[in-house]
Amino acid sequence: MFYGAIDLGGTKIYTVISDEQGKILAHLRTATAKDASPEVVALQMRDSLDALLQEIGGVPDQLTGVGVCVAGYFDRISRRLVYSPNLQKWEDIPIEGLLTECFGVSVKVENDANAAAVGEWAAGAAKGKKDVLYLTVSTGIGAGLILNNRLYRGSRGLAGEAGHIPVNPDGVICGCGRSGCLETEASGTAIARLAAQAATTGESEMLLAYHQKKASTGGIEAQDVFTAAKKGDETAQRIIHRTTGYLAMGIAGMINMFNPEMIVIGGGVSQAGEALLEPLREQIKSRAIPALTEHLTIKRASLGTESGVIGMLNLQER
Ligand SMILES: [Zn+2]
Repeated sequence: MFYGAIDLGGTKIYTVISDEQGKILAHLRTATAKDASPEVVALQMRDSLDALLQEIGGVPDQLTGVGVCVAGYFDRISRRLVYSPNLQKWEDIPIEGLLTECFGVSVKVENDANAAAVGEWAAGAAKGKKDVLYLTVSTGIGAGLILNNRLYRGSRGLAGEAGHIPVNPDGVICGCGRSGCLETEASGTAIARLAAQAATTGESEMLLAYHQKKASTGGIEAQDVFTAAKKGDETAQRIIHRTTGYLAMGIAGMINMFNPEMIVIGGGVSQAGEALLEPLREQIKSRAIPALTEHLTIKRASLGTESGVIGMLNLQER
């Protein structure tokens, strides 16, 4: 018997097959068909599963279940993907039913940050911990909560939308339709936006140089800002201080609420490592209640892009 897990993204589909113990036997990364209908993408996913089964010498009948994680709001009561920021054509789609029919096997869907949280808790940076807050900071911000060794999903499976915690009453409009969300103030997109502003208003020559160098691919990126800050650029340092300050504000609220023993930070921005974590720890300490940060560990995720599929394999009922 084999299990499948798929991380369905807007640009990539990452598929793995595991044995009964959850050990990954084969994996495959393919590009998500652009602007395709859910039905077409579902067939792509099925093809990936078939290809991997063939690779390990298995047959479709041996596939017992498939877990799929995806960005967006997956309603566990209606079993519909209400909205996904990366897959516009998947709005209000009965995703589990559609994939179950297409694959011919039981499919379970989960929000991608929830899946990554389970992955890091089961086999990554938070292994052996009981109460964990996982945050992914990349183009957006997502979160997953492990409370008392269980994924906390809320009443409809929509818990963990930390990226949309309001932190700035004067903030910019967010993809969710509200404004001043943690995501609009502290994500990789926010860091890049502030840096692009500083570059074009003549505030920083170093940021302008990065911005011009990457003009053809959308301009300066968050990692460039961390690099510039390290090289001593004061504007870059100010941007990092501001965005980590907002991130700390959102995280401090969650610390005071849930009293986790560990916070794990994943996502593209976490690749900055200590350049992100050091100021973040400092600002969290100055925001959260001291008794709750005394025994708290804040560290980087360790599974990288594997966290989602590992989480989905872990959520399989065996
Ligand atoms: Zn929002």
